Formats: sequence, structure tokens, C-alpha cells
Amino acid sequence: MNINDEDDIAVVFRKTLGHYTVRARGRELDCVLSSLIHKQLIFPTADPTSLRRTVREVREIDHVDPVAIGDRVRYVEAGDGRGMIVEVLPRHTKLSRPAPVPGQRVFEQVIVSNADLVLPVFSLANPTPRWGLLDRYLVSAEAADLPSLIVINKLDLAWKNPGFDEEIEIYRRVGYPVLLVSAITGEGVEELKRALQGRQSVLVGKSGVGKTSLLNAIQPGLGLRVKAVGAGEIGKGRHTTTHLEMFALDFGGALVDTPGMREFGLWDVAGEDLAYLFPEMADHVGQCKFGLSCRHDQEPGCAIRKAVMAGTISPYRYQSYMRLREEL
Ligand code: GDP
Ligand code: ZN
Repeated sequence: MNINDEDDIAVVFRKTLGHYTVRARGRELDCVLSSLIHKQLIFPTADPTSLRRTVREVREIDHVDPVAIGDRVRYVEAGDGRGMIVEVLPRHTKLSRPAPVPGQRVFEQVIVSNADLVLPVFSLANPTPRWGLLDRYLVSAEAADLPSLIVINKLDLAWKNPGFDEEIEIYRRVGYPVLLVSAITGEGVEELKRALQGRQSVLVGKSGVGKTSLLNAIQPGLGLRVKAVGAGEIGKGRHTTTHLEMFALDFGGALVDTPGMREFGLWDVAGEDLAYLFPEMADHVGQCKFGLSCRHDQEPGCAIRKAVMAGTISPYRYQSYMRLREEL
């Protein structure tokens, strides 16, 4: 095997239990993992008292799956459209989540690697945005060092949500770009395409906001294909991603939807670092009376609370900070 040959590099774009579909030189290959990589699957034996359960869980446990969607891998061909992944190349970004295993330590589960952009998708109305959830997505993207583009769909329903302009302004002031779109009228769809073009984007957001309709508006049939990928499965299992797929965009770029995914990236975030992941708070960190040991809660002389009082930090964003802080 010649693993120095650049031609043997492929991108993982589909994952089902134990199988990885990679794209290389315009072709698709159905790959398994080399035992060299597979060995890492063995160490977290789930329940030593039950052999059958152990074997099943080891197969299902994706948090120790060394391969993620978006990974660039080296492979060897086995003929017949099949191959074997022999090496995962270093990731330039990764979106991970903590995968706790009962009775064990918490593992890192990389969901998507090498992404360039996170798109939290919400709707202006039906349902109205849950800003706390948006904050969670934004923090996760910040933790992964990825830029976010907030997408708000159902712009045609603006009349149903009179408070919206004021609320979204909070995010614009922080510096997040916001795109208002309507899958129904097509407004904003061209801008969305331009934002996606040439990038590997990750969509986050709950069902019902119009992701399927929006993807269909971007590229005929795309929404339906994305929806067919075991919609919601990623969020159901505590620590399994049974099926995930990245779709090529016909105008260039690729896109992964993560249905039901509540969080990424709060993996490896220490409580005292959380304020850095709120861009409007970052500058105040270290300015508190208790310096870096301030939790920005009830401490006297807290620079962040002062900024909330002064109106330069939104109380809603501060609430989100406190809520996330509780979890860390
Ligand atoms: P998903 O669950 O996020 O994939 O959302 P769907 O695309 O299935 O849409 C959910 C509901 O919202 C459906 O009834 C759609 O017709 C509706 N919908 C989607 N986009 C829009 C939009 O831009 N405007 C309005 N008014 N309704 C929309
Ligand atoms: Zn403070």
C-alpha cells in the first residue's frame, strides 16, 4: 500500500453503521475501516457482565468512531467500488459533542470535520425563534472556531412577529450576520446560495422551521434527499449517529444537516472560558474585580454584569450565558 500517493485521498460524505462512503476522483467508494483504525473501537467495553451487550454497543458507539463526516482519509481500493480507510488526515475544524457512556468517562464524538460555516436556521414565526437555542448553537460554533450565519426563514410571516426586529438586532449588534429568507416567496434564497457556495456548511436547527423547503428552493430535490437521511436520528440516541450525510451542492460546496442536534462543541469548554465564546463579553473578561476567577454571577465589581446594566450586553444573552455556565 502506498499511502504517500496524493491520489489516494478521499472525503467521507456518508456514514452508516460500520460503513463509510467516500468520494474520490469523482467516484464513490463504500469503505470499511482498516483494523489499524478499528482497534480504537475496542477500548470502551460497555458492560463487562454482558458479552452480547458489549459487542453490540461497541459496534454502535460512534463517540469512539475515529471517522467523521467531512474527514479527508487515505484509502486503499479493494475493487468493486469497495475500499478500506487506512488513515484519517488531520482535521482543520471539528464540531464535536460530549458522548457520555454510563459508568465510563465522557468521550468526544466528532460529528462533522473540516466545516467552514455553521448555519443556525430558525423561522420568524410558526414557530417563533427560541433565542436560547440560537445562543447554544452560536457558542458551539465559537468553541469550534467556526463562523456562523444566522438564517431566519418564513420572512413572509413577519407580520406575525412584531417583536422580531428588536430581538434580531441583538445578534446583529454582537456582529453575527443574519440572513432573512422565505422558502415560499424565494426572498433571500440567492443570497443564501452565495453564502453556501464553495463552502462546507453545517445546518443546525429544529424541524418545522422550513429547512426542507429552503433546501428545495436552493437546489431542486435537495431538501427531500436531506430529509430522507433518517431525519432526527442523530439527536435521538444519546451517543450514536447512525446515519449522517453530506450533500454536494450543484453550484459548488457541500452541506450537512444535523436534524435534532441540540449541541455541539460544549465539548472541551471550561466554565471559566465560556464568556470568551460570547463575543460581546470577551472584551470584559479579566476586567472584573475578581479578575479571571469571576463567574460573572453575583460577584461585586463584575465587569460583565456592569455591561448588562449599562445595556451594552443584552440581558437575554447574559441569561443564556448563565444557563450554559450551569451545565459546565
Ligand atoms: P423542516 O421540518 O424544517 O424541514 O420544515 P419544512 O420544510 O417541512 O416546513 C415546515 C412547514 O413550514 C411546512 O408547512 C412548510 O410549508 C412551512 N414553510 C417552510 N418554509 C416556509 C416559508 O418560507 N414561509 C412560510 N409561510 N411557510 C414555510
Ligand atoms: Zn465578572
